[in-house]
Amino acid sequence: MSSHETLLYEPQGPVQQTKKRPQRYSIRDPVDINMAEYLISGGTTYVPEDGLTGSTLFGSFEGLTYNDFVMLPGFIDFTSDEVDLKSALTRKITLRTPFVSSPMDTVTESNMAIGLALCGGIGIIHHNCSVDAQADEVRKVKKYKQGFILDPICLSPDNTLRDLRDVKKQSGFSGIPITETGRLGAALKGIVTSRDVDFLGDESLSRPLHDLMTPRDDLVVAHYGCTLEEANEILQSNKKGKLPIVNERDELVALISRTDLKKSRNYPWASKDEKKQLIVGAAIGTREEDKPRLEALVNAGLDVVVLDSSQGNSVFQLDMIKYSKQRYPDLQVIGGNVVTAQQAKNLIDAGVDGLRVGMGVGSICITQEVLAVGRPQATAVYKVAEYARRFSVPVIADGGIQNTGHIVKALALGASTVMMGSLLAGTTEAPGQYYFQDGVRLKKYRGMGSLSAMEKSGSQQRYFSVGEKTKVAQGVSGSVVDKGSIFQFAPYLISGVQHSCQDVGALSLTALRSNMYSGELRFEKRTNSAILEGGVHGLHSYEKRLY
Ligand code: GDP
Ligand code: 5GP
Repeated sequence: MSSHETLLYEPQGPVQQTKKRPQRYSIRDPVDINMAEYLISGGTTYVPEDGLTGSTLFGSFEGLTYNDFVMLPGFIDFTSDEVDLKSALTRKITLRTPFVSSPMDTVTESNMAIGLALCGGIGIIHHNCSVDAQADEVRKVKKYKQGFILDPICLSPDNTLRDLRDVKKQSGFSGIPITETGRLGAALKGIVTSRDVDFLGDESLSRPLHDLMTPRDDLVVAHYGCTLEEANEILQSNKKGKLPIVNERDELVALISRTDLKKSRNYPWASKDEKKQLIVGAAIGTREEDKPRLEALVNAGLDVVVLDSSQGNSVFQLDMIKYSKQRYPDLQVIGGNVVTAQQAKNLIDAGVDGLRVGMGVGSICITQEVLAVGRPQATAVYKVAEYARRFSVPVIADGGIQNTGHIVKALALGASTVMMGSLLAGTTEAPGQYYFQDGVRLKKYRGMGSLSAMEKSGSQQRYFSVGEKTKVAQGVSGSVVDKGSIFQFAPYLISGVQHSCQDVGALSLTALRSNMYSGELRFEKRTNSAILEGGVHGLHSYEKRLY
């Protein structure tokens, strides 16, 4: 063994801690190191170089997935909650947390979009529905005001106790405002709460609500334009459970519930536009009929459109990008999906503000199996991000995210945000009801290219099956386990990403990416046995609770 090798593998004396590694390592392989650098000088031993740079890791012709590598730890001189998760969604939209929900009908409608936006991310409303239904979901997010119920269920004075009981059975709400027509926007006539009707028996079922309600004259109300703080004060001083909000014509415009105010929290990271409204995205296809859809969405207040295609490098998408940018210059346009720099180039040249990366890697997806096209996701993210950064076009790593580790790996490979389907589909805010199977609480989750989703109109377009006699499914339909509310799950994701960044010594997501490009962040490939070693092993049984 030569003296140089001894120095490489058996460092002598105190090991120098090098938080900032010299730039030169970014272009070299460990084997290519000038041994002279390892000579002991002044009693200090230089640390031998370890691990691989991003460019070396992805320099081979092998496609890698998130599980195929790990990041090596760095130096920590800050706490994890100091880690800044700010990151760009598009050229003009920056989020406080890098989380985006997939435009899928079992993942994102207004509830998910509101929840994620309050937690600093953004939801992309799916388009497997009518134009009006999709625009309504966008409008609900834009009109959302914390604490205000903007579409309360109402009844009319002529409705009966039976109607009220039916509403209560279906919705679970006990405080029902009574308006002239039984709809929001009509003159307020009164309110019925459980205190008004709790002790009435079946003999009263046909009594009209005008006999039972607390009439308008006895109601405490607030006026349109009041702040949540003002409403809070009114509710507290009057000891009421519900506060109707009326306009100058005494028409009902919203309702405030005491229960909500008690739960109300601050969301300092909420993703908002300059009018302080939450921001929201929506997906559309790339056909002629998607142009009026886009117009309806823009009129509803849309901030960012996602052109939803599994293979985005098409003449249809290039035309749609140019059309959208020219017709709606203020709208941010995300193109995709792409997995190669060549695909990305065409979309960037056409003017996209962001790129969605991933093909055939989603949990519900069978594209690679049935069409033999796609790319392992870690390689796809690295290759596209490495190209797109030259044009300042942010990349969304879409699909295949199974845990917080995958999120950080995607971000470390150059993505600015991650798009998640299966990880979010089990939360309360995702569309659909929970059900039990074998004692486990589940929610339905299906691919937009699954036969069951394609039976509804919108998603056929993404998978090119419109009008075809024989459909080729590119996704499956399944279920995911209950994850509780997004308001508990998103903070867990945030903390997980912050801790991971801390471990590799990156104080922000920007630092994480630049450390990867400079070569300071080091990676190591994992063998199959290393992957097994990195998971739980050797136990008879265990419980995996994450937060
Ligand atoms: P509670 O006695 O204060 O729990 O009042 P309710 O039984 O009326 O339910 C109120 C809860 O349901 C609050 O968290 C409301 O924000 C929520 N909610 C959502 N939509 C509606 C609605 O249309 N009407 C009512 N009353 N509550 C709604
Ligand atoms: P997940 O987070 O569940 O791993 O993946 C979600 C992503 O899978 C979505 O954002 C979308 O890009 C992709 N996807 C959704 N439905 C389908 C489908 O039916 N087939 C394919 N190939 N991809 C899908």
